[in-house]
Amino acid sequence: SGKWAKSMEILKEFEDKCATPVSKLRQVADAMTVEMHAGLASDGGSKLKMLISYVDNLPTGDESGIFYALDLGGTNFRVLRVKLGDVNNVKKEFQEVSIPPNLMIGTCAELFDFIAGELAKFVATESGDMQIPPGTQRELGFTFSFPVKQSSIAGGTLVRWTKGFNIEDAVGQDIVEELVKAMERAGLDMRVSALVNDTVGTLAGGKYSNKDVIAAVILGTGTNAAYVERANAIPKWQGLLPKSGEMVINMEWGNFRSSHLPLTEYDESLDAESLNPGEQIFEKIISGMYLGEIVRRVLLKMAVEAEFFGDTVPTKLEKPFILRTPDMSAMHHDSTPDLKVVASKLKDILEIPTTSLKMRKIIVEVCHTVANRAARLSAAGILGILKKIGRDTVKEGDENQKSVIAMDGGLFEHYTKFRIAMQNAMDELLGEEASKNLIIELSNDGSGLGAALLAASHSQYA
Ligand code: ADP
Ligand code: MG
Repeated sequence: SGKWAKSMEILKEFEDKCATPVSKLRQVADAMTVEMHAGLASDGGSKLKMLISYVDNLPTGDESGIFYALDLGGTNFRVLRVKLGDVNNVKKEFQEVSIPPNLMIGTCAELFDFIAGELAKFVATESGDMQIPPGTQRELGFTFSFPVKQSSIAGGTLVRWTKGFNIEDAVGQDIVEELVKAMERAGLDMRVSALVNDTVGTLAGGKYSNKDVIAAVILGTGTNAAYVERANAIPKWQGLLPKSGEMVINMEWGNFRSSHLPLTEYDESLDAESLNPGEQIFEKIISGMYLGEIVRRVLLKMAVEAEFFGDTVPTKLEKPFILRTPDMSAMHHDSTPDLKVVASKLKDILEIPTTSLKMRKIIVEVCHTVANRAARLSAAGILGILKKIGRDTVKEGDENQKSVIAMDGGLFEHYTKFRIAMQNAMDELLGEEASKNLIIELSNDGSGLGAALLAASHSQYA
């Protein structure tokens, strides 16, 4: 029927607009490299902030003692206690707490009072060989996964919120000062020794166990990357050159944008209706917070313009963010012959009671298109970093030099087809020889360990 043809037309147009042939990925990678240079040259020189982390030494393996870490950056926050000393045997205790949604859009003091309260409760559970010696102050590495302009290893002001957080009175404030004030209100005596982005934490945690780690990438609710740069390749750095000659850069690549990105009308409306229009465009097409939402928008268009689900538009389908990326992933991985999982997700989430197999196949195709574009663009972003630091090709005399990317985030960890598509794109881009030397290593919660390690190397007792 005409309705069916119209649905196919919408799908086809979407697929065409999302296409990511290798030639396009190379353009995206090159644009990433160009923006990296611009962001390193001057503040405000690029959409890429290329933030200086003040981390000029990555963990060596000699760190020792008991340290805390606090990880705030998504829907959950985690508190962590680690005992350092033996690289192969780090003892960890942690607790995960979900953040009440009202606190994500309330006031700065409310959010930090909640965090300090949960941290105080966790500290109170210290026991056995995880106790801090009497007379020593507890020390904490604070992983804060939002753009921060750092002024030192343990201080910096919030540039802006992302990922659904929007607490206006916190923007421009020193995040460590806010945490310290809340800890004082909670009666908790603790020194914040390091403030690190989760990418920087993941890089530090990864480097601790693997010396070939050169960069870290997060693909979770949001997305970002950090890497080790030569200090003398950072024109905007005003300070003394660090002894190591290196500096970790937090790219804030979620805010990357380029005319080469394959954007669609769905991405444009998603952005326009978001909490941060015009910002985080790369993040909005590749990260977990948004992929399911893009799928919903395509299905809604099919429902409205092609009566894809019948002559009425399913009410639930009109609700932003109702289709979450884990559900999209479950549909995409449905291996039952009649696509039972797709049917049950549509029923449970969108309250669409019946669908034909033909319809379900189209829905899987939409999921594939959205995930595939995201995965391939993520690979292009990584190629941009490799190019910037000259690791995209095999060097004569150094044929076996490995480049390891420490990867974290629920999207990469759980979305198998995403992960495979990303690895395939990486192989296509690098070619057989160079891709043998690139290793993407899942570093599960490396950022918490990394923050604790950086707290240790910047300890008042070190
Ligand atoms: P955060 O990024 O908030 O620190 P995670 O790294 O755990 O936290 O990532 C959580 C995100 O990962 C979720 O928002 C979701 O988008 C994505 N995710 C989690 N589980 C799955 C899944 N099974 N399939 C696809 N994506 C998932
Ligand atoms: Mg995280």
